[in-house]
Amino acid sequence: MAASPPAWNRPTDPFAELISAEAIATRVAELGGQITADYAPLAAAADVVVVGVLKGSVIFLADLVRHIAVPVHMDFIGISSYGDATTSSGVVRITQDLSRSIEGKHVIVIEDIVDTGHTVHYLLDNLATRRPASIKLCSLLHKPERSEREVKIDYLGFTIPNKFVVGYGLDVSQQYRNLPFIGYVQGV
Ligand code: 5GP
Repeated sequence: MAASPPAWNRPTDPFAELISAEAIATRVAELGGQITADYAPLAAAADVVVVGVLKGSVIFLADLVRHIAVPVHMDFIGISSYGDATTSSGVVRITQDLSRSIEGKHVIVIEDIVDTGHTVHYLLDNLATRRPASIKLCSLLHKPERSEREVKIDYLGFTIPNKFVVGYGLDVSQQYRNLPFIGYVQGV
């Protein structure tokens, strides 16, 4: 007997689907292909390190690295914004640092979403002081309507409207990270 489908998207759940699991899978594979093509020539010269920003990028990173066909190291950095739950203050604190030096390495920062751009701006500045050989940014999502800092996203999954999204790693009050699709919270 077939397993029952997950109960997500019950009428009582406070979100609606914005990007399907299938669309995410297709785009993630494309991004992996792009990264593979760009890094294949570099990987022989220096280590490639993918740096996941905790916790939102974890599911994206796990899927993405399986489409990158060059050897990569994985590391994680935890950051927390001093803003409230839905507004970035631009003042960012590192709550968990990388486990190894990135000096001389090719770094790809993996983010879940670039919203105002403050968080990733701070992070890229911080990582650049550690003298990596190169540093690029890969973000699953971008909300250009909310942009306050100019951020160059080298690899972007999807541009989305100004909605608060959850799922595929993104949370609201630590919930819904395990949704297989990206949804938006209705009424927010
Ligand atoms: P920024 O500094 O670019 O405004 O904010 C980046 C961080 O805010 C993201 O890494 C994420 O943690 C959080 N964030 C921004 N927009 C959303 C959203 O729509 N949904 C969720 N779950 N988090 C968001």
